[in-house]
Amino acid sequence: MPGGDDVPVDFDGVEITDSSTMAGVPDEFQRLWTPHRMVYIQNGTQPGEAECPFCIAPTLDDEQSLIVARGTHAYVLLNLFPYNSGHLLVCPYRHIPLYDEASTEETAEIASLTQTAMRVLRTVSRCDGFNLGMNQGRIAGAGIADHLHQHIVPRWATDANFFPIIAKTKALPQLLGEVRAAVAAAWPTA
Ligand SMILES: [Zn+2]
Repeated sequence: MPGGDDVPVDFDGVEITDSSTMAGVPDEFQRLWTPHRMVYIQNGTQPGEAECPFCIAPTLDDEQSLIVARGTHAYVLLNLFPYNSGHLLVCPYRHIPLYDEASTEETAEIASLTQTAMRVLRTVSRCDGFNLGMNQGRIAGAGIADHLHQHIVPRWATDANFFPIIAKTKALPQLLGEVRAAVAAAWPTA
């Protein structure tokens, strides 16, 4: 596997960049991406509190941040560390850790964005089911515990028990940028 901190790595002629500061929820899997900037993610890297990726993401353009839709109180982006192709996160703009700290308006929009995301993913990816959920607190598995995020993971009948076996390096059938573009294009305009 490519080397540790600050070691520039070249993987099959593609420049590798550290995407640990990009928005997403890291898990134990290391991943290799062939194109461009989101190529190699260091295992379990946590961003500092001052550089919360879910606060930074909305300040970037959609392609950079992998945002697929922006609402008034919350937004939807592709998880940089997906369990599956099309793994989305719904985040309030406000930097709050827990669901019961969300306002009525935030709660309502997180819910409606989640419903829209399901419909869009069903259309775009023909998935057979979903896992929805929020990990509340690091002890419960939240990768970025300080900023609330709802997971939407599309599931297919054939997706289980294959990729995680391969040396904890997860290959995904579609590149993140392509997935983002497809989901964003299918998102209904307000
Ligand atoms: Zn934040």
